Amino acid sequence: MILRIDRHLTELPPPSSPDPKGASAVQELMGGKFGEMSTFLNYTFQSFNFRNRQGARPFYDLVANIAAEEFGHIELVAATINTMLTGSSVDDLRDSHTPQQFIAGGKAALAQNSHGIPWNGDYVNNTGDLVEDLMANFLLETGARNNKLKVYESCEHPAARALTGYLLVRGGVHQVAYARALENLTGADVSKLFPTPRIPTDKIPEAQVHMKAGKHLKLYRFSPSDYLELAAVWNGAHPETGEPLVVEDQAPEGVPPFALPAETDVFAPDYAPEEIAQIAKRLRTQAGLPEMPTGVVANPTNGNGLVDKVAP
Ligand code: MN
Ligand code: MN
Repeated sequence: MILRIDRHLTELPPPSSPDPKGASAVQELMGGKFGEMSTFLNYTFQSFNFRNRQGARPFYDLVANIAAEEFGHIELVAATINTMLTGSSVDDLRDSHTPQQFIAGGKAALAQNSHGIPWNGDYVNNTGDLVEDLMANFLLETGARNNKLKVYESCEHPAARALTGYLLVRGGVHQVAYARALENLTGADVSKLFPTPRIPTDKIPEAQVHMKAGKHLKLYRFSPSDYLELAAVWNGAHPETGEPLVVEDQAPEGVPPFALPAETDVFAPDYAPEEIAQIAKRLRTQAGLPEMPTGVVANPTNGNGLVDKVAP
């Protein structure tokens, strides 16, 4: 099972000028073949279906634990799309590649790619053959970083830049993790065999901040008591920087997310969000909870927990 923490893995900027076209491009990182739904569900199914897990424990722990991190990546991609759509007008849907964000959703992320095509379960590679699945994972992380760099270059919106800067660094960790697992099993160094995209992560300002914090070296353990064998694979020197790889024995501290304002023109969460907030307040008080909302968000809200509309 998964324990859920109501924080983001990394800081994203608050809404600024809306960018619906950019938000369509970012959809590829959500529901594209090499998007975060694919990484999350590839590793999730591989861990669910893992046979002889005690006999292969370090590899099981690696796949199961990275799956948990990918859940947080999906959350970041959704938050980025929602941030980029905040303050946009329904007229913008005419220029959007993914008008369902407006028509079927509340100016929000979809489980679709940048053409509005739904994410597909066929993107999951899970043969049961550990080496084959790890190889698919290495290529999936490689393709994911390739796509992220192109979204970085094509989207100037600060939320898209912050997202891709962070995910390029974390995807690099996962690439190295699967390469090391394969090397341990087969002796082959796939990062040398494959001319993976040469991504100069250390030259990208939005990635540099995370490398300075050492996040390119850390594999986080996303469980209070399980997945203890990560260090059997995640050890030695980083193949590009030579620095020592480290297992961090906890989830990242994370940051409180921005509470995004209501978008009343698409009824999200309603045409009159104040009414829901009044009902919520009454229910809280009746249940003996504090009058003010208890959740922690990055931005100030009023006494009902409502955020002012962000001006484009
Ligand atoms: Mn990811
Ligand atoms: Mn990954």
